[in-house]
Amino acid sequence: MDNFRWVEMRVAAMKKADGTIVQWNGVCFDVEDQERSQEELRRAQERYARASQAASLSELSASIAHEVGQPLAALVSSSDACQRWLSTEPPNIERARAALERIVRSAATAVDTVKRVRALFKRAAETHQSEAVKDVITEARELLAEEALKRGVTISLEVEQHLPLVAMDRVQVQQVLTNLMRNGIDAMDGSMNEKLLKIRARLLEGAVQIDISDAGPGVEFPEKIFEPFFTTKGDQGMGMGLAICRSIIDSHGGRLWVAERAQTGATFSFTLPIESAINLYESTIGSGDVV
Ligand code: ADP
Repeated sequence: MDNFRWVEMRVAAMKKADGTIVQWNGVCFDVEDQERSQEELRRAQERYARASQAASLSELSASIAHEVGQPLAALVSSSDACQRWLSTEPPNIERARAALERIVRSAATAVDTVKRVRALFKRAAETHQSEAVKDVITEARELLAEEALKRGVTISLEVEQHLPLVAMDRVQVQQVLTNLMRNGIDAMDGSMNEKLLKIRARLLEGAVQIDISDAGPGVEFPEKIFEPFFTTKGDQGMGMGLAICRSIIDSHGGRLWVAERAQTGATFSFTLPIESAINLYESTIGSGDVV
């Protein structure tokens, strides 16, 4: 058991007219609750950083729902603190402002988590449709075209001719593609090399394989990146992207992996098994077009 409490002390001197100090007056605030909830939040984040990479989609969603509860709890306790700092005599504006900043941060974390999860699960119940891989890739490329342009990245597309249709949830697969592409674009920030993001799709052993390669520094922690909440992007990253991508591809019966560290850049690949019963082929064919 802890044998201490977190308190904040404030002391002021009581002076005579000539400036000599007569006595010191002190006041002691109990800040135990705020400190503890912040600590609890940190611990929860650490627990998730170690969470199993094999977490299934449903386990993941339950954990995320739980995770949203943490910033909400912190938000409530910071709000209480803020109210208390404002009702002291005189009000402690500085501490109140710090509490307010914590409120804003906690709220942003909660909103961000909910947004990402909603986008993923909204369509989970819908059935898969036969789709042309080329169309889905082209759409994903269009979604990111403006961002790529702004950040000086060229996206090249190479789609093998006569690819069979693939049964998929179009929005989910697009989420995987944009996630991997965005990671590639992020990885090339500040790079001196030509910023080229290559997307390639081909038929390999009963599945369509899609490779996304960048010219960044490569993956530093390949064994950890698929774990939920693992990120090297500090406040900019959430570390859920690859964990969610893997769950989506698993649910399509495919596989997502990162290639062994090559000399330059990183290559992420995933497969989508083709339907055996349906033997339709894409009619719109093209390869090697570059934006
Ligand atoms: P986030 O992008 O929020 O960090 P992700 O799960 O998408 O979450 O990625 C986890 C981590 O994997 C990143 O923080 C980064 O360290 C690493 N990573 C992902 N893609 C690449 C890439 N193309 N090149 C280098 N590192 C990468």
